[in-house]
Amino acid sequence: MAGELNGKVAVVTGAASGIGLASAEALLSAGARVVLVDRDEAALNALCGKLGQAAIPLIVDLLDPKACAALVPRALQLAGQIDILHANAGTYVGGDLVDADTEAIDRMLNLNVNVVMKNVHDVLPHMIERRTGDIVVTSSLAAHFPTPWEPVYASSKWAINCFVQTVRRQVFKHGIRVGSVSPGPVISALLADWPEEKLEEAKESGSLIEASEVAATILFMLTRQRGVTIRDVVLMPTNFDL
Ligand code: NAD
Repeated sequence: MAGELNGKVAVVTGAASGIGLASAEALLSAGARVVLVDRDEAALNALCGKLGQAAIPLIVDLLDPKACAALVPRALQLAGQIDILHANAGTYVGGDLVDADTEAIDRMLNLNVNVVMKNVHDVLPHMIERRTGDIVVTSSLAAHFPTPWEPVYASSKWAINCFVQTVRRQVFKHGIRVGSVSPGPVISALLADWPEEKLEEAKESGSLIEASEVAATILFMLTRQRGVTIRDVVLMPTNFDL
């Protein structure tokens, strides 16, 4: 893939860890300049020092409405253009609904749904003006095979799948492609919030996915020739009831 994204600029949210970091690394290796967006300032600065000059750190707490609204203008100031948005930042609330903290539910719905919709909304005028752009959203297997132990998380990703499928049809005429990637359990910090027995089950059934596999899938989608839609890809684990 070396050089396939030369001259392109990608913005990746939640880029200091897990899937976002793997995606940023893959995009950099394909020649893109990448604006890495995260609220974790220390991690982001340390990473960008290692990743080289094409990696541009942008510290944003996406749950701060003003900072979130300033994301696209700030990224444009730093990098001059946006060809790719990987709307990836997300969080997790699992377990029985009656036990869930309602503030945590609000934060999760805000980040997994509202922030993604706002980021896409904010980048579209720039992409429409340039008549080109690719948007990939990180969804989840949970949206396709919802399990009874994560109703709120699965619903957030279901909502975002619906968003992807509908916006895609609105913007295709402008030369903009929208797709999603829905992995099963990915080895990352987010899995710390999983119940121990589910994690064991996932390990034993060989169902854990590497973040680099998700990133390779995203790169495959983004390097499809223009005019080919980038679709919604599900990365199935061995045991899909996870
Ligand atoms: P992760 O916890 O490793 O990374 C999430 C990143 O987002 C972190 O760097 C964190 O600092 C950042 N972040 C969180 N809140 C933020 C905020 N308010 N503002 C800015 N940055 C913020 O998690 P991950 O597993 O890489 O998850 C990334 C995405 O993948 C999420 O949307 C998640 O729902 C989805 N996903 C994860 C899995 C999995 O099993 N890990 C499976 C399917 C989908």
